Amino acid sequence: PQRIGILTSGGDAPGMNAAIRAIVLAADHYDLEVIAFRHGFEGLLEQNYLQLTPNHVQHILQYSGTIIKSARCPRFKEVASAQQAARHLAELNIGALIVIGGDGSFRGAHHLSQHWDGQVIGVPGTIDNDVYGTDSTVGYSTAVAIAMDALDKIRDTADAMDRVFIVEVMGRNAGFIGLKSAMAAGAERMILPELQRDKPLTIEAIVKHIKRVEAVRGQGSYVMVLSEHQWPGGAVALSEQLEAEHGMPCRPCLLGHIQRGGPPTATDRVLASELGVYAVELIREGARNVMTAMRAGALTTVTMEETWSKKNPLPENLLRIQHEIFNPVKKSRQPR
Ligand code: ADP
Repeated sequence: PQRIGILTSGGDAPGMNAAIRAIVLAADHYDLEVIAFRHGFEGLLEQNYLQLTPNHVQHILQYSGTIIKSARCPRFKEVASAQQAARHLAELNIGALIVIGGDGSFRGAHHLSQHWDGQVIGVPGTIDNDVYGTDSTVGYSTAVAIAMDALDKIRDTADAMDRVFIVEVMGRNAGFIGLKSAMAAGAERMILPELQRDKPLTIEAIVKHIKRVEAVRGQGSYVMVLSEHQWPGGAVALSEQLEAEHGMPCRPCLLGHIQRGGPPTATDRVLASELGVYAVELIREGARNVMTAMRAGALTTVTMEETWSKKNPLPENLLRIQHEIFNPVKKSRQPR
C-alpha cells in the first residue's frame, strides 16, 4: 500500500507515543503515508483523522499517553460498524491499519479484518501485560517501575510506624504488575488473580502470616501488594478489616492511574520502537491479521486470535522464588 492507518485503542499505556513515532518514521523511510485516527475505533467511524508526518512525532517518545488519543468504542462490536470502518478506509485509500492496544483492541482489529480486505497489524500496548504471545507489552515495564517506586516510599513510612500497608496495583485480571513490583520492592506478600483462583487467601491466613513475619524476622513493617479486584472492597476494605477485626494498624494505598503516567522506561521506549518499526516491515511483507511480539529477545508474530484466546502464565520461577522469600521458617538451632 501507499497509505497506512494507525490508531491507539483501549487503556492508554506508557510507550504508545514511542510506537507512534517509530511507525511514522519507518513509514517515512519507506515512502508510505500515515493517517492517524483519533480516539481509537471511534475515529474510524467518525472519520476523525489527520495525516502524521515526521514533524508531528518529534520529541514525543518521552511522554506517556498518546498524541492521537485513545478511547473505548463499544459500538465497534457491531457488524455495521466494521462495515462502515471498511468503507471509510477504502475511501481514504488506506491499505493497512496498525492497531496499538490490548487484547480487547485486537478483538476489534480482528472483527474489522472480517469485513475489510486490507492488512491489519497489532502492536501490544497495555500496562497489564495480559496479551498472549509476547514476553512484554508496551507499558508494562513503566507500570512496574512506578509501582516499585511507590512501594519503596510506602516502606519508609511503614517502617517508621511499624505498620501494615496494603498497596493496590492495576493488572485487570492478570498478576504481572503485582508479582514484578512486589518482587522488585521486597514486599512481604502479594495477592494476585492467578493465585487467588487456585487457593484464595482468607483473612485468617493473612493475619497469621503477618504475625509470623514479625515473630520470625523481628520486623515491624509489612507491605502487601494487592492486585485490583482481588479482595471485596479492595485495599481500603481489607485494611479496615485488619484494623477493626484483628487490631492491626493498617493503611491502604491505591496507586490507580498514576501507574500510567510520567516518562516511560528505556525498556518500554525501545520495545515500542522495535515493535512499531517491525509492524511497518510486516506490512511491506504482506502480513495480515497478526500482532508484533517480542519473545526471548527476538521479533516475531502471533495470530490476532491467539492474543486473546490464550493466556500468558505468570513466570514459574518468579512464583517459586517468591514462595521461598515469603515464608520464613523458625530455626531450632542458633545461627553460627
Ligand atoms: P484493551 O485494548 O486495553 O484491552 P478494551 O477491552 O476496552 O481495551 O477494548 C478496546 C476497544 O476494542 C473496545 O472499546 C471496542 O471498541 C474494541 N473491541 C473490544 N472487543 C471487541 C469485539 N469483540 N468486537 C469488536 N470490537 C471490540
